[in-house]
Amino acid sequence: MGVLSRRRSLLIKLVVIVSTAWFTIAFLLYSEDRSRPALALSLQNSLGNREARELVDDNAIDPINPFKNDDSEEKEKAYLPPPKKEEDNRVLLPPQSMAGEMGKPVVLPTNLSAEVKKMVDDGWLKNAFNQYVSDMISVHRSLPDPRDEWCKKPNRYLPDLPATSVIICFHNEAWSILLRTVHSVLDRSPSRLITEVILVDDFSDMSHLKQQLEDYWKNEPKVKIVRAKKREGLIRARLLGARHASGPVLTYLDSHCECTNGWLEPLLDRIAQDSTTVVCPVIDVIDDTTLEYHWRDSSGVNVGGFDWNLQFNWHAVPEREKSKHQNSAEPVWSPTMAGGLFSIDKNFFEKLGTYDSGFDIWGGENLELSFKTWMCGGTLEIVPCSHVGHIFRKRSPYKWRSGVNVLRRNSVRLAEVWLDEYAKYYYQRIGNDKGDYGDVSGRRELRNKLKCKSFKWYLDNIYPELFVPGDAVANGEVANGDRDYCLDSACKPEDMHKPVGLWPCHSQGGNQYWMYSKTGEIRRDESCLDYSGQEVILYPCHGSKGNQYWDYNQETKLVRHGSSDKCLAINESKTKLVMEQCNSELTRQRWTLENYDHSKRIK
Ligand code: UDP
Ligand code: MN
Repeated sequence: MGVLSRRRSLLIKLVVIVSTAWFTIAFLLYSEDRSRPALALSLQNSLGNREARELVDDNAIDPINPFKNDDSEEKEKAYLPPPKKEEDNRVLLPPQSMAGEMGKPVVLPTNLSAEVKKMVDDGWLKNAFNQYVSDMISVHRSLPDPRDEWCKKPNRYLPDLPATSVIICFHNEAWSILLRTVHSVLDRSPSRLITEVILVDDFSDMSHLKQQLEDYWKNEPKVKIVRAKKREGLIRARLLGARHASGPVLTYLDSHCECTNGWLEPLLDRIAQDSTTVVCPVIDVIDDTTLEYHWRDSSGVNVGGFDWNLQFNWHAVPEREKSKHQNSAEPVWSPTMAGGLFSIDKNFFEKLGTYDSGFDIWGGENLELSFKTWMCGGTLEIVPCSHVGHIFRKRSPYKWRSGVNVLRRNSVRLAEVWLDEYAKYYYQRIGNDKGDYGDVSGRRELRNKLKCKSFKWYLDNIYPELFVPGDAVANGEVANGDRDYCLDSACKPEDMHKPVGLWPCHSQGGNQYWMYSKTGEIRRDESCLDYSGQEVILYPCHGSKGNQYWDYNQETKLVRHGSSDKCLAINESKTKLVMEQCNSELTRQRWTLENYDHSKRIK
């Protein structure tokens, strides 16, 4: 899983701002006129529970947490395990609250008491999402149905679908969010298609995940709890889950997901038709602050990709995919990369040696699975009729073993085994410092045994959009004058539209690694240097020259800009980039592009 697209986060921000503003206005109005019934009603709908009604009654500004007191009656009720099935035909718990029903946002008032504010803050600290709000929402809450109409037609899917073991790994997950994940699976899947739900506890130490969790599920024979004996990390925990699974298909979910109506059948249907198909649901965003369920129809789906830092990223479905499926009855997208949630035939999983690659803890596993699947005879698909929500977090809340660069080690192992001659582009990005990455000979043997295709085949056929540094006219640092200052910027979504930085040259790649493309862009991944009269900023590459066109002259060392005809320079105090009238006499306008190869330029 990864970062949100910028457009989506903008939308989320808008929703939050609008609802916060609404609340503020509502409260102001309310203090003017306490008896306004319409307002009382809307407060109920937003906070939704008994406490919210009290709030309206006595004007006490405190959306009390239903589980606030550890031994309160409320908590008792909420923590009650589901009743035995034979005793009643699945009567659900007395509704804890209406908060968040239909995937609606739960917005806390801005003027919380100090006590509640502390609980909200603690929840954020422990989980990196709003646990307080999650605790207010029923673990059986209803969700919108995000499917397109054609997904709901009867008899769409094969009659005898294989069942699946659903594997959910967790490390110190919050109680309400974990239960909601499991209930959403059980509540929204035909029972015959669920062999079991395996909860893999990756050595959590939070007390609610011990006996309390066992007690909660003791009457639900489908839920099995497997405990790691030490902290394994996501990758080995997922493998541990697979070893305990007895269903013919494995389905992996995170411990903070919500499955929507009909999520499972379309996934299993694709695997039933071809067991080498690895399928991903559309992953919708559950807001980390309000727990609102956001979704878009199938035309707005994002697919996974990666960059030469070997970082997973999301991007829109490419045009070539869209046109391929224009007239198809059931479009499935072929992503270059699987997200973290997917289903796979168990035999195919074992044949590929999935998660058995000596990776540590977390990171790189999506890429490995995806390269393997595509290169070794399988297919990856995103199935637009299947929607699963996931809380995307802005930071990782867990403790990690310090001192080891786990992510780099995983990525180097990945590059050594799968990237062939393209591995060098990753190494350039990490200053050619591979570190100790252990033994990969077994993994290379597996690749030979499976007769997998080359990475070049993968790039040409599955990810033709990826910009390959080897096609660049220059790659490496862009150094000013006597190579004391280099262009230096991160290119994350939050760095877009910001001025490009300068820093003493360090030869480590990273934020000083740039590519000069055949078409005159200075770029890293999908970010381009862009000048429209103010400052030189980063902007998503648009391929249409103009503001992103830079003409480098190897003799004069000037970098002349397309639409303004000015030259790139640094200011006198060497703190920022400026654009000036071109003059090759000035050292501050002279640049060296590393590995510049003039023969690669388009004439
Ligand atoms: N996880 C785990 N052990 C770890 C770290 C994470 O079992 O050491 C679980 C975590 O609880 C979650 C899943 O692995 O269910 C994926 O982790 P996370 O959600 O942090 O990754 P993200 O979705 O943010 O990429
Ligand atoms: Mn996650």
